[in-house]
Amino acid sequence: MARKMLVDGELNQTNKEGAEYDFDLFVIGAGSGGVRAARFSANYGAKVGICELPFHPISSEVIGGVGGTCVIRGCVPKKILVYGATFGGEIEDARNYGWEVNEKLDFNWKKLLQKKTDEINRLNGIYKRLLSNASVKLLEGEGKIVGPNKVEVTQPDGTKLSYSAKHILIATGSRAHRPPIPGQELAITSDEALSLDDLPKHAVVFGGGYIAVEFASIWRGLGATVDLFYRKELPLRGFDDEMRAVVARNLEGRGIKLHPQTNLTELVKTDNGIKVITDHGGELIADVVLFATGRLPNTKRLNLEAVGVEIDKTGAVKVDEYSRTNIPSIWAVGDVTNRMNLTPVALMEGTCFAKTVFGGESSKPDYRNIPCAVFSIPPLSIVGLSEEEAIEQVNGDVLVFTSTFNPMKNTVSGRQEKTIMKLVVDTETDKVLGASMCGPDAPEIMQGIAVALKCGATKAQFDSTVGIHPSAAEEFVTMRSVSRRVTARGKAKTNL
Ligand code: FAD
Repeated sequence: MARKMLVDGELNQTNKEGAEYDFDLFVIGAGSGGVRAARFSANYGAKVGICELPFHPISSEVIGGVGGTCVIRGCVPKKILVYGATFGGEIEDARNYGWEVNEKLDFNWKKLLQKKTDEINRLNGIYKRLLSNASVKLLEGEGKIVGPNKVEVTQPDGTKLSYSAKHILIATGSRAHRPPIPGQELAITSDEALSLDDLPKHAVVFGGGYIAVEFASIWRGLGATVDLFYRKELPLRGFDDEMRAVVARNLEGRGIKLHPQTNLTELVKTDNGIKVITDHGGELIADVVLFATGRLPNTKRLNLEAVGVEIDKTGAVKVDEYSRTNIPSIWAVGDVTNRMNLTPVALMEGTCFAKTVFGGESSKPDYRNIPCAVFSIPPLSIVGLSEEEAIEQVNGDVLVFTSTFNPMKNTVSGRQEKTIMKLVVDTETDKVLGASMCGPDAPEIMQGIAVALKCGATKAQFDSTVGIHPSAAEEFVTMRSVSRRVTARGKAKTNL
């Protein structure tokens, strides 16, 4: 394939000393963003090298693995555990459908964990093959930047290798952060939570974000007692308030004990387990305490200050709209830039980088209408603006359509859990600005709705779309009556 480069001329260009670069692109970190950028750049004809830390399910500053967080200790293993945890409720629901579940149900955590580990090992192999099939040279070791066009890779045996590259891409992701409270070393992060030897009997989860909510759902679904502590009034800050309240209600409905506006202040090791002390003076004993209180970009050991790459106060690499840092030869994508920390976003940024630098087409990531999901049980999924964001961003009034209903499956199973859907519409343009759903299959349904929003669909176009019957999804095209009209710059009036 002919080699092309948009940014600055020919590949294999000589550097200042007159020698050829070893690589057109050297990528540090073989996770979602790094692998995508490396493969696509190689497919455009670039000579690409990539380095990644040695593999292990639990990461550290010197441990990682090809595939990165999503594959080894994020989206994939988590979703496998969510599937596992969902069966408990499904088996209960099956009784009213005529299934006789007579004997005591047993759950084998070790078996599920082994299956999860087998799957991440398989995917780790697939990612390595993706790189080698694209002729990307993979090096095992820790990468750091030693000059605008120079990287050093420290191999597991301590050997240091040095390479020159016309472009360097930082794609080192992020890692869980522990709040500095006394006894914090007794807690685990999501890495360990995905590899526990035993299923917790009583788990405490600290955090209000999606990772906290998901692990609370997993462990509760598998039979553990779960206490969820978070600092705000509702979990999932940043999501639509009405949907946050629905998720909170569902978590409680499934037996998770919620502790809003509560901080953990100390953990103490006792003979019976870990004593958890809160700022309300509360105490309880748990066998597992999970801190899901945020993640920080992996930049500490990259030597960025030596080359002058700017970072923000969280340690995230600062980049422009094309993912370029203040040093023209150095770029960054994914969680390490702390823009929108999701796998498909890291993939988009990696794709745009490769297109811009090697594909002959300037390409900026588009952050509008990015759908996402919280894999609570049942899940929440959203795309576009929340009601609060719409009111803030739109000049005129905002129309809100909601539908709350008993999913058809529950009418027979007897499960008491409503599904809720919501559309937020701009009165002036009739455009659907945001959609959300909490209920079974929400992420599967929302992916299609995201296409409609990306195309700028109006409420009239939603209404003229014929539904699929009987399905929950058809509600999205049959929400005829306005639940409320929020006047310009008014206050969101949810049905909380
Ligand atoms: P990563 O995938 O983290 O890759 C960075 C890589 O760089 C790692 O492999 C690391 O080992 C390596 N590295 C770091 N430093 C060095 C170095 N100096 N030298 C060499 N290599 C280095 N996102 C979703 O979209 N959906 C989900 O459902 C979802 N669930 C998640 C659940 C959990 C528990 C977690 C933690 C995250 C989840 N995410 C989810 C987020 C998603 O995993 C990340 O947004 C995504 O992996 C970011 O990709 P990345 O390429 O930026 O970084």
